Amino acid sequence: MKYFGAHVSASGGVDNAPRNARAIGATAFALFTKNQRQWSAAPLTAAQIAAFRAAADEAGYAPAQILPHDTYLINLGHPDEEALRKSRTAFTEEMLRCQALGLDRLNFHPGSHLRKIPEEASLDLVAESINLALAATEGVTAVIENTAGQGSNLGYSFEHLAYLVGRIDDPSRVGVCLDTCHAFAAGYDLRTAEACDRTFDEFGRIVGFRYLRGMHLNDAMKPLGSRVDRHAPLGEGEIGWECFRYIARDARFDGIPLILETPDESRWPAEIAALEAFAEEA
Ligand SMILES: [Zn+2]
Ligand SMILES: [Zn+2]
Repeated sequence: MKYFGAHVSASGGVDNAPRNARAIGATAFALFTKNQRQWSAAPLTAAQIAAFRAAADEAGYAPAQILPHDTYLINLGHPDEEALRKSRTAFTEEMLRCQALGLDRLNFHPGSHLRKIPEEASLDLVAESINLALAATEGVTAVIENTAGQGSNLGYSFEHLAYLVGRIDDPSRVGVCLDTCHAFAAGYDLRTAEACDRTFDEFGRIVGFRYLRGMHLNDAMKPLGSRVDRHAPLGEGEIGWECFRYIARDARFDGIPLILETPDESRWPAEIAALEAFAEEA
C-alpha cells in the first residue's frame, strides 16, 4: 500500500493538518507541530492533542501515514557548545510534541559543521544529540533526512546516513527519510529506471530499506550534483516523471509516508492523482 501526500499547513491548530490533507486527496501528510521559524512554543494542551487525534482518526490517518518535520533552526551538529545545547533542547521538545500527539516519527535534517570542525566530529555530535533525545522520549523514531549538501550541511551521502544510524543506541528508533531532490542535487542520478535501480540499490546496501521511514518526492530545479536545494513540481525539473513512476510501482516504498514538498500547492491534488495512477499499474 502506498501513502501519498504533501507537507500541509497546520496554521490555526495542528488539527487542521489532517483536514487539509484530506481535502487534496492525500493518504499521507507532513506537518510542523509548531511555528517552524521559532525555537520553542507553548506545550500542546490536552484539548489540542485530543482535537488532532480526533481529526486524524476521522480523516483516516494512522501514525505510519504522518511525517512531522522539526524546525529548520535546529542544528544537532553545531560546533559551538551553547548553540548545540539550544538545538538539543529544542529537538527534544519537538520529539515530545510528537509523542504527545501519538505520532511515531520525527523527520529532521542532521545538521551543519559550519566549517568550524571536521565533518566526522560534527556527525558524532549529531549522533549524540539523537541519543540524548531518544533517552528523554518514548515511542518516537528519529528520522534523519538526506540533504543536498548545500553549504556545510551534513547528510548528503548514504555513507553519512549509515554513519549516524550506526551510532544510535537503540536501532529500532532511528530511521531515514530520502528526499529525491536532495539526493539528485547531491549527485545520485534518478532520471531513468536504470539510474533509480543503481541509486536505490546503493541505498539498500549502504543504509538498508528497513530504516526507510519516509520519502520526500520533489523534482529538482538544478542539475545533477549541483548541491543546490531547489524543489520543482513533479515532471518539471531535471529528474522527470520516470523516477516518481518507479517509486510508486516499487514495493520497497510501501507503507511509509511519501510526501510532496513541491512548490506549487495548487498542483498537489493532480500530483497525488498521478502517483496513485502509477501505483495502480504495479
Ligand atoms: Zn525534504
Ligand atoms: Zn529541500
